[in-house]
Amino acid sequence: MPHFEPHSGVISELTRRAGELRAAIDRRRLAQLGELSALQSSVWDNKDQADASETALLSDAELDRAIAELHEIDMALARVADGAYGQCVSCSAPISPERLKVQPAASRCISCQVASERASR
Ligand SMILES: [Zn+2]
Repeated sequence: MPHFEPHSGVISELTRRAGELRAAIDRRRLAQLGELSALQSSVWDNKDQADASETALLSDAELDRAIAELHEIDMALARVADGAYGQCVSCSAPISPERLKVQPAASRCISCQVASERASR
């Protein structure tokens, strides 16, 4: 079985990106809760308004993408733990290091990725 050893930079990059995404998702969820309670109580002081506008919140589409990307990263980190990182989940071929450099959470080799994107359309 081909074994691809991810260099430590990949794992720290994935972990860092996962943390970033989690923070952005949490912020968006908290803001949503804040908006709801603000609507219910209509108490929304100036400081809160300033905070809300300062923090760039994810749109609905961005939230969906962030959740999907976070899932991809979690799966990639699980594959690192299993020693299956860098191996295509569809055909088991090794994913090219160039592709992993651009997309460290890639789960499929480029030809399987293209095929699955075609299939989902
Ligand atoms: Zn493949």
